[in-house]
Amino acid sequence: MAIVFGTRPELIKLGPVVREVERVGMEACVVNTGQHSDLLTPLLGHFQVRPKYDLATMEPGQSLNRLGARILAGVDEVLTKERPDVVLVQGDTSTALMGAMAAFNHRIPIGHVEAGLRSGNPMNPFPEEMNRQMISRMATFHFAATDNNARTLLREGVPAEQIYITGNPVVDSLRQTLVMSRPKGEMVDILNRVGQRKMVLVTTHRRENFGSTMRGHLRAIRRFATAHPEVCVVFPVHPNPNVREAAMAELAGHDGIVLTQPVGYADFVHLLSHAWLIVSDSGGIQEEVTALGKPMLVLRNNTERPEAVEAGAARLAGECPANLHQMLEAAMTDMEWFVRASHCHSVFGDGHSSRHIVDILNQRLVRAVQELRLAA
Ligand code: UDP
Repeated sequence: MAIVFGTRPELIKLGPVVREVERVGMEACVVNTGQHSDLLTPLLGHFQVRPKYDLATMEPGQSLNRLGARILAGVDEVLTKERPDVVLVQGDTSTALMGAMAAFNHRIPIGHVEAGLRSGNPMNPFPEEMNRQMISRMATFHFAATDNNARTLLREGVPAEQIYITGNPVVDSLRQTLVMSRPKGEMVDILNRVGQRKMVLVTTHRRENFGSTMRGHLRAIRRFATAHPEVCVVFPVHPNPNVREAAMAELAGHDGIVLTQPVGYADFVHLLSHAWLIVSDSGGIQEEVTALGKPMLVLRNNTERPEAVEAGAARLAGECPANLHQMLEAAMTDMEWFVRASHCHSVFGDGHSSRHIVDILNQRLVRAVQELRLAA
């Protein structure tokens, strides 16, 4: 099996799958496209994943098309050499789309982890919504996290026997990491600075929010921190210059706001588990807060994870700063929301998704080999 990833969230979700593949004795050829090497490389050690190939496709300022072309060519070479029986991709990045396309052109079956997510708007999130739709047209094994994702795929004509409801391995990583690591160093300092105050954990990095939307959100957060000294905002700032500039301009120099570098995954998970409220535009964090039973305000107009909203953990704050401010204020008194959120643990899986995915692939591949032997 070839397992292809290139960004932080892909490794967080495929790391436990790599472990499982090794556990059942299948051969894994791990391919890192290097799409976002700065955030991903430190995580390889955490997940004990050693890529056989590092395609180093990241170049500053390159267009999506150039990045896509480099990934496609790189994965093509790997597949020509390795001839895997199946190629596994995750989610909706350029790596996932180009990894799937390279496999399709080699007529190698594709397994898609986190299949069936849809925002319904091809331009938002861009280009991820179109990427995930195109991967669904090419994949053979669709690993849906939820019933809702499976129904979406069925509606689009994917045959029922190719869809497996496995949960999302993001929950496996979260649970394993919370058990296996403790907050240390810089994280202890951050937690000490927060002290007895309620921690509002903030992240924002989506390109749809760059500019006035992000500035408006951050201003609303500052206003909230000023009005409530019992609250402390912690914001690990994404390295993208658009985010850095907005964070420095809107949030620097406030006693109730801690700005940090992006924190390592294990540290981030501990921050999440200590947070009172999470405010973010991230996709993966919507799954993580739900698994932790924490409330979250999503800095987006729509979400491809409506399960988090329906279960009562997440609320959509949209783009308007006044709306965000109102929802932050509501969090101070709406205890029912916190109670509902605390009952959402299993919405995105039971923490054993990677085992479910690998067991299915193992059985299917063993069966395919037996059928070939019978036919010979
Ligand atoms: N994350 C992290 N450090 C941080 C912020 C986030 O390790 O400072 C992790 C987080 O636990 C989640 C993932 O990164 O699993 C989310 O990645 P991101 O928000 O970049 O992407 P998305 O999920 O929106 O695709």
